[in-house]
Amino acid sequence: MPNDFEGPKEECGVFGVWAPEEDVAQLTFYGLFALQHRGQESAGIAVSNEQRIMVYKDMGLVSQVFNEATLRSLPGRLAIGHTRYSTTGASVWNNAQPTFRATQHGGLALAHNGNLTNTDELEDWLAELAPSEKVPRKKTMDSTNDTSLVTALMSSFGDLPLEDVALRVLPRLVGAFCLTFMTETTLYAARDPQGIRPLVLGRLSNGWVVASETAALDIVGASFVREVEPGEFLAIDERGLRTQRFAEPEPKGCIFEYVYLARPDTTIGGQNVHSTRVRIGRKLAEEFPVDADLVIPVPESGTPSAIGYAQGSGIPYGQGLVKNAYVGRTFIQPSQTIRQLGIRLKLNPLREVIEGKRLVVVDDSIVRGNTQRALVRMLREAGASQVHVRISSPPVQWPCFYGIDFATRAELIAPGLSVDEICTSIGADSLGYISIDGLTEATHIPADSLCRACFDGRYPVAIPPAQAKLLNLEVVK
Ligand code: SF4
Repeated sequence: MPNDFEGPKEECGVFGVWAPEEDVAQLTFYGLFALQHRGQESAGIAVSNEQRIMVYKDMGLVSQVFNEATLRSLPGRLAIGHTRYSTTGASVWNNAQPTFRATQHGGLALAHNGNLTNTDELEDWLAELAPSEKVPRKKTMDSTNDTSLVTALMSSFGDLPLEDVALRVLPRLVGAFCLTFMTETTLYAARDPQGIRPLVLGRLSNGWVVASETAALDIVGASFVREVEPGEFLAIDERGLRTQRFAEPEPKGCIFEYVYLARPDTTIGGQNVHSTRVRIGRKLAEEFPVDADLVIPVPESGTPSAIGYAQGSGIPYGQGLVKNAYVGRTFIQPSQTIRQLGIRLKLNPLREVIEGKRLVVVDDSIVRGNTQRALVRMLREAGASQVHVRISSPPVQWPCFYGIDFATRAELIAPGLSVDEICTSIGADSLGYISIDGLTEATHIPADSLCRACFDGRYPVAIPPAQAKLLNLEVVK
């Protein structure tokens, strides 16, 4: 249940639509709504009526930023949108996306999901191309600066057409990036050669959609066409859809999307995320069986794997915890009294269901361990006779440089302790994490087409050299 308290955060969700006869701002609003889980700090939409681009963005959830009046004030024929999660705490309006710049050809609006790992090099290149540019040096893994940097680079080639500019800039970007960007007339999308983050193409009866997840196509009634290929650059306008390759594909999709990040109703790499999570649960039951009376999930993200664990073990599945669905992100700071309620603010145990039972509790990851410790205590207080914790991902050992914000390594519980020690620390009767091979098998994707670096420390794409040296990390290419 990491999203609720302490866990990994996806940095962003991106969306783009070209549909001259539709209300593109509203389609983008609904697309972002479906991608809300990928970023909850700010939301923004850029719309063009083919004469000029208008950008509206602000801090908050999609439904807090936009209302009918703001959407009505954004008429247009094409649009891009973005939901953002801050990685630094410096979650200020300036960091909200899409970014906008005036270029020699008109406006350029850009939205980015991912994290670039060669910004030093790109900043040097920008300094050569446009010495007067003042993009601040990147000091953190925050993507804000990446986005300004790419926008600045895209605007630094004089009067060269944007499509040609993109084909010069995109091959120089290293790291994870899914971009949607637009001029007054054309929607563009690009995905890094490793396809670390998902990006899909959909078709409306009278237009095109690109989005981080298939769930965002479903919500706007677009049919899934295909994934944007790793290393592919798309342009969509009156002339139709044009596709070019800016790099050879070397797929390394993020395995954590399957475990936790993506919505269960999304399909990535041909694999439905919910079904994958059920398979992970079955595998977990095979690897870590236990005598117990009831399997319960930590809702919502633990649910499919708990179903799989119950199927694999033959132990009945039940709902032992009720989630308070409306305690989501709020801008109201909780008082000390409310904060002390901790996990109870989000989850309430069903005493009648769990009393006297030997429970298997399935969750998707343990980051710092505080949540699981509170959870185990709460279940025992509610009468559980045993609490066996099963985790549908291997221990998170290493940082992510490709757009996911975990706790720092010092804050992670796994690197410092053995599984037995973690079990003792959270107060469970037993603890089992799925193996990395078991997890990989459950995704039905070959290991060499996945990034698993936060679990095994083997980074498939270059990371900043200083960080690699500091952490003694391995880059496999
Ligand atoms: S390091 Fe982990 S979270 Fe980051 S891209 Fe790789 S698998 Fe995903």
